[in-house]
Amino acid sequence: GKAVCECNSCFGGPDCSQFFPGCVADADGGDPLFLEPFWIHHAASSALVVAGWHRMSYVFNDHSFISHELEKQIHKLHSVAKNAVTEGKYIIFGAGSTQLISAAVYALSPDNSSSPARVVASIPYYPIYQIQTDFFNSVNFEFQGDASLWKTNNSDSSTNVIEFVTSPNNPDGQLKKAVLQGSSSVKAIHDHAYYWPHFTAIPAPADEDIMIFTISKLTGHAGSRFGWAVVKDEAVYQRMVWYMTLSSMGVSRDAQLRALKLLKVVLKGDGRRIFDYAYNTMSKRWEKLSRAVSKSKRYSLQEIPSQYCNFFKKVRGPSPAYAWLKCEREEDEDCTAVLKAAKIIGRSGSKFSAGNRNVRLSLLKSQDDFELMLHRIYDLVHSEEDGS
Ligand code: PMP
Repeated sequence: GKAVCECNSCFGGPDCSQFFPGCVADADGGDPLFLEPFWIHHAASSALVVAGWHRMSYVFNDHSFISHELEKQIHKLHSVAKNAVTEGKYIIFGAGSTQLISAAVYALSPDNSSSPARVVASIPYYPIYQIQTDFFNSVNFEFQGDASLWKTNNSDSSTNVIEFVTSPNNPDGQLKKAVLQGSSSVKAIHDHAYYWPHFTAIPAPADEDIMIFTISKLTGHAGSRFGWAVVKDEAVYQRMVWYMTLSSMGVSRDAQLRALKLLKVVLKGDGRRIFDYAYNTMSKRWEKLSRAVSKSKRYSLQEIPSQYCNFFKKVRGPSPAYAWLKCEREEDEDCTAVLKAAKIIGRSGSKFSAGNRNVRLSLLKSQDDFELMLHRIYDLVHSEEDGS
């Protein structure tokens, strides 16, 4: 266990055992603390001690910014998880996938163009794509909103289009394909942050030109800021390397060391333990929540089909990272406010460009956080039966 306990907002007292009944269930945010018990179980084998003299240099022995040992483990990881084809492709590291998202947009955009690349995504989409693209305010790319609006305008091949494809999607957990395809001026960035057996069936290994992954949602170490991209085209890879060189001279060597240690534990033996643990946890959470919400007429959840999973070698049910809850009643236009009145904090659908009828609830947090949210949902659904 932990020597010092950090109480969540619903517990207090010296050992966090005192429950505050009126407290709010915070289901906002994507911190993947559901994996904390796994790492407590593997505390010794995952521990890292680094002497002061170790890895002081800007570069590794081969003068690069990346650990080839870590790169090897990442290839192995994908072959175990069966979620991506990496043979013959380039791997580049980033400070979380957040940095790689911006590196990829840069790499796919023209230089000094009179027609900036249009960056698009399908609604509902993860807001950082837009916020980051707007923030960098480049003459070479511009966020243009909903991907499907550009479907018919595709003939204008002088302008590059960069489509973000998030699969499974944040917020709704659906497996997605690119909406815009078929023209050489359309390029896709596949964000596979959640493409792990934890959160979805793996129907086949992904084999797209640019795929982005992160340990944040794989091992739960969001704070280490370590992600990677698998890139097919050498020129695109070189532009991403250039971006990483200029912005931070590569990823912290300490973060790489931590990631290496964690992946070695993940891959120990047959490399299935973390996937079994994560899938069990997430699918149980989904079952409990969806059973509770199914009793309601006012609220519904997204539907995720059962699918054959090439990792588990069987048809498996849903285990999404987030619930995408919808308020069905006409008058519940602001679903976030309805939930807030029931002491549940979610993230409004409008943040994902989807309007206020939907709210995203995180299923990734600690067991305490999840159980509290579930209890608040039970109360909400019961109050509906009472007619209150
Ligand atoms: N992509 C998606 C779809 C995400 O949900 C997140 C985190 N919530 C990220 C990227 C960024 O993750 P990180 O920078 O921690 O790798």
